[in-house]
Amino acid sequence: MKIEIQDLSFTYGSHKVLDGTTFQVSPGTFVGIIGPNGSGKTTLLKLLSRILKPTAGCVVLGEQSLDSLTQKTLARTMAVVAQDTNAGYQFTVEDVVLMGRAPYLGRFQAESLEDYEIVRQALEVTGCIHLRKRSITELSGGERQRVTIARALAQQPEVLLLDEPTSHLDIGYQQEILDLVKRLSTVEGLTVVAVLHDLNLAAYYCNELVLVHHGKIRACGPATEVLTADNIETVYGTRVLITPHPVFGTPQVSLLSGRGNGPAPKDEQVHVIAGGGSGGELLRDLCEAGYDVTVGVLNVGDSDWEAARALGLPLVSEAPFSSISPERHTDNVAMMQKAQAVILAEIPLGHGNLLNLEAALAAANEGKPVYVLEEKQEQNRDFTAGEGQKLLNLVKEKGIVLTEKTQLYRALTEQFRLSGNQLDDLGDEARPAVD
Ligand code: ADP
Repeated sequence: MKIEIQDLSFTYGSHKVLDGTTFQVSPGTFVGIIGPNGSGKTTLLKLLSRILKPTAGCVVLGEQSLDSLTQKTLARTMAVVAQDTNAGYQFTVEDVVLMGRAPYLGRFQAESLEDYEIVRQALEVTGCIHLRKRSITELSGGERQRVTIARALAQQPEVLLLDEPTSHLDIGYQQEILDLVKRLSTVEGLTVVAVLHDLNLAAYYCNELVLVHHGKIRACGPATEVLTADNIETVYGTRVLITPHPVFGTPQVSLLSGRGNGPAPKDEQVHVIAGGGSGGELLRDLCEAGYDVTVGVLNVGDSDWEAARALGLPLVSEAPFSSISPERHTDNVAMMQKAQAVILAEIPLGHGNLLNLEAALAAANEGKPVYVLEEKQEQNRDFTAGEGQKLLNLVKEKGIVLTEKTQLYRALTEQFRLSGNQLDDLGDEARPAVD
């Protein structure tokens, strides 16, 4: 059954919560409503289920206005799974699901064998049949949610509305409930509209998403069109990276907090030498801490290059799989000179990147603090038959070797506290002691 939401507005007292919302849900699709807390998602769902009456606009179910349906017809057409609430009464699971048959019963009419059969099927589909004699109060959150969906199915609806059906559930139950809902839409042909909190789950399961922001629709359509970094930053105020799911290609949202959420920049510049995945987490944490971070030299396509680009960091890049050229080395040295500290991440040493070690050594020889991270010391990362290790040992002699990132962060804090950014002028004695 198709749902048309036409220019829907709603006001609580003088507080306008929804403002001219318009979108369509095609029959048999699974549509996710997403948006930050307080954006109006639950209100929208309550308008769709006629729990609230719009101040303007209307909802059309199939060919009929929601307004025009009798309560009984509405209950036979649409079922609502509200946010999980702890059931206070000691009903059995079977009794709870049987309540879903109410729209089909006359005033004092008892349930027929057919009603019991429909309840059995609903319990079967939702994997609750073994729970039927248990009290609803004894169930886990995931089991209770399945029973609530079973009750909704006993209504034999064409439309299923769910408000955050997986909140408070662990990832296993989240998957179980959403697999079930998806199956109901694809196999049983139910039209499903669900408010979902988790953007990745929404992208994974829904055919289309509706992104609500301050009571208006910011975007609606397939997840690839709705879940853009720009939309997420505008609506949630957080920087993210959108990548395709490695297997299914649906968009996945990864936090990229970095500069977006960290403290105000400290004007304290550090230059990181990374590569081969040694620097991603480090770059993020340094950005979070408010340092001005530069990076080099990284090969285009290297995961640290991707991380630096995603964080918007100034960097010196070399062509993919190429040795560092003298030009890029010069650029790197120039960038390094502007930094007050250099950090050498635990990079693999190959003939192609020895110039990065040369650059670090030159910085150390000039008296700049060079922090050398050595977290996984046991691992051989020299692929140059000794040349790289020799050079690294020289850098370690002149630099400050740290075996944990936490030591590095403390050392940097100490350096900048001591120096007031003037460490370079004070010479070697001013270097922070590192435990
Ligand atoms: P969401 O589901 O996106 O978190 P809601 O639809 O619950 O958002 O709420 C949208 C806005 O309406 C919020 O600012 C909320 O405080 C307000 N609101 C929700 N319910 C009521 C109510 N019963 N009375 C007054 N304001 C309400």
